[in-house]
Amino acid sequence: MIELLKRHSFSATFLVLFLSFVFFFGGDGEEIQQLNGFTMGTSYQVQIVDMPDAISAEDLAADISDLLGELDTGIFSTYASNSELSRFNRHGVNVPFIASSRMIEVLLLAQEVAALSGGAFDVTVGPLVNLWGFGPDLGVFETVPRQSQIDTALNRVGFQYLRISPSSQEIRKTRDIYVDLSAIAKGYAVDQLAEYLDGVGVDNYFLEIGGELKIKGSKPGADGWVPAIETPLDEGSQVYQIFYSRGDNIAVAGSGDYRNYFEEDGQRYSHEIDPRNGRPVTHRLAAAYVIDDSVARADALATTYMVLGPEAAAALAERQNQAVYFIYKSESDGFEDFISDEFEYYLGNN
Ligand code: ADP
Ligand code: MG
Repeated sequence: MIELLKRHSFSATFLVLFLSFVFFFGGDGEEIQQLNGFTMGTSYQVQIVDMPDAISAEDLAADISDLLGELDTGIFSTYASNSELSRFNRHGVNVPFIASSRMIEVLLLAQEVAALSGGAFDVTVGPLVNLWGFGPDLGVFETVPRQSQIDTALNRVGFQYLRISPSSQEIRKTRDIYVDLSAIAKGYAVDQLAEYLDGVGVDNYFLEIGGELKIKGSKPGADGWVPAIETPLDEGSQVYQIFYSRGDNIAVAGSGDYRNYFEEDGQRYSHEIDPRNGRPVTHRLAAAYVIDDSVARADALATTYMVLGPEAAAALAERQNQAVYFIYKSESDGFEDFISDEFEYYLGNN
């Protein structure tokens, strides 16, 4: 869960040649094979207990790196000008665009979460993300924009301006919108990685991209894996709370206001933006962690809860019977937790 790096955009292509698994002992004298790299502006980590026989470690590493490269610069990146998403963002209004099945799948999920959240989660938030300085636009600085600029950007925001036709694989915008999938693509990439590893017969793994996790089986000598929630402070990673996967196949994602933000006149402006008023959220929810079946959905919902704020987030989590761990800033400098019963289960190990 611990995020190792701040969001950056950099090319990982030169790293590809050097990617390989290294092993360490994970308990009971058994090896864990680990692969690390960079994708989607952040780091990734793959830990595998049972390496498959049918494929060499080199080929496995190359496949993983190819898959992530395709998902990042090939499809979902707004930093890569030739990605499918960047091409769609430049595409004309009302002109059909043939999309990949992965793009359609992610947009349909984004649509579902937009509806579920009453518009708090909205991937057409891109013009606002860029305006507040959190997007790929060079020369846009992290500073509070004028209300007139916010209004202009808000005019280009709204999921209803995006039409998805799964049967014909077409997507179409009815206004000059700009789609930003940063709150869902990392999670989706972890799901795809998991699907690939399931396919080659790996049964015990721990996968992570920028803090979004998929966990299956257990590590050697244990009943599961032991992920950690980090303290929501921008002071390097510190463990706030560990939990136990207990052998379950789980997806976990977290969002917070403490990594990607700027401050002006004593006010913190973070990269979670409320598409309903065009402004970064300013409540006392510091971080939201979510367990779900798919990492893509957990990722989108973690952002959703952050945008909704303490009360509405707790209400939605309850309605969904979701395993959530929310960390609030308390009146006196520290933190307070809200832990749903479903999450409570993963705090114990027996
Ligand atoms: P992280 O990237 O650290 O995991 P999130 O998953 O919460 O954090 O994603 C935050 C990113 O999502 C922002 O940088 C922005 O690009 C995008 N975003 C911000 N607000 C929203 C929103 N209301 N709905 C959808 N995406 C959003
Ligand atoms: Mg996320």
